[in-house]
Amino acid sequence: MTSDVSQARFLGLCSRCHVKKATVRLSYARVSLCDECFARFVERKVERTLRKYGMIGQGDKLLVALSGGKDSSALLHIIKGLVPDIKLTCLHIDLGVESFSGQCRLKAEELASQEGVELEVVELREFLGCTVSELASRRKKVCSPCGLARRYILNYYGNLRGATKIATGHNLDDVLAVLWDLYVTGNLLEAVKLQPVTKFVHPKALPRIKPLIELTDSELKAYVDIKALPYSPAQCPFGRESKLNKRKRLIDVIESMHPSFKHTLLKTHVKRASPLLSPLLESRTAGWRSCTKCGMPSKGEVCSMCRLKEDLKRG
Ligand code: AMP
Ligand code: ZN
Repeated sequence: MTSDVSQARFLGLCSRCHVKKATVRLSYARVSLCDECFARFVERKVERTLRKYGMIGQGDKLLVALSGGKDSSALLHIIKGLVPDIKLTCLHIDLGVESFSGQCRLKAEELASQEGVELEVVELREFLGCTVSELASRRKKVCSPCGLARRYILNYYGNLRGATKIATGHNLDDVLAVLWDLYVTGNLLEAVKLQPVTKFVHPKALPRIKPLIELTDSELKAYVDIKALPYSPAQCPFGRESKLNKRKRLIDVIESMHPSFKHTLLKTHVKRASPLLSPLLESRTAGWRSCTKCGMPSKGEVCSMCRLKEDLKRG
């Protein structure tokens, strides 16, 4: 367990209900909670995040990106609980990574059926002409083409199914680990793109919302375990994760010395740095147009996904 959440046996009584034994200690909030109060705390936090950033409006139809991992499992369960009559459909992308993707797909299917929602499964191979494992045998780095293809497919299916927004399970640790690198390397334009809700750039680029952005990895892990939600704990065996996980561990160390560092950093990024930097971004986003091959949003004549496919065909 990391510093912001610890699960232990002897924490005394729950700081909220004062009746049940506390099972989870939240050091940054200086409280110890029982299972039920902790689950409610997590759900209320998501409710506040949805409201704070105006993530879901009347008439919205969500495409929930269900990876089979803990975060998107929590995301679907919490959204269904908070907004029971919301129109939503789920999409799982089967990446075709042996010993990883099968488990993820199974858990995504299990969860969707448990929650009574529609789930569509798309194979990456249908879009890219190869699986991630095949891609790995041809290229040194697979994470950025895989990420590009996942974003493209989510957006493509979102448009196809009439969704107005895409919801992903990115959490506070995910976002800070990426922001860390972007700020350290001075890539401020990319940093400012990383927001709880993405900005409008093209009619077919559906806004992406991150309702879990104020919850940490360990809070979400504790939540899915308490709720016994189906999820796969497996990590993708290909690269990037280890780099991201190193950043996460580093940020955890800082958090253990400065409780609430993570929430402060996110707040500073969203409320202070981004408003200063966004005019720069707006001048750059004017160049968005439609890909001449597939019609999806593109910065050049042909979008990055169509270029990647061409590249792969050439071998
Ligand atoms: P990751 O980039 O793996 O940390 O995933 C971040 C979020 O992207 C997840 O919480 C999901 O919402 C979404 N996502 C990642 N992989 C998939 C997938 N194979 N199928 C559908 N959604 C995914
Ligand atoms: Zn294209």
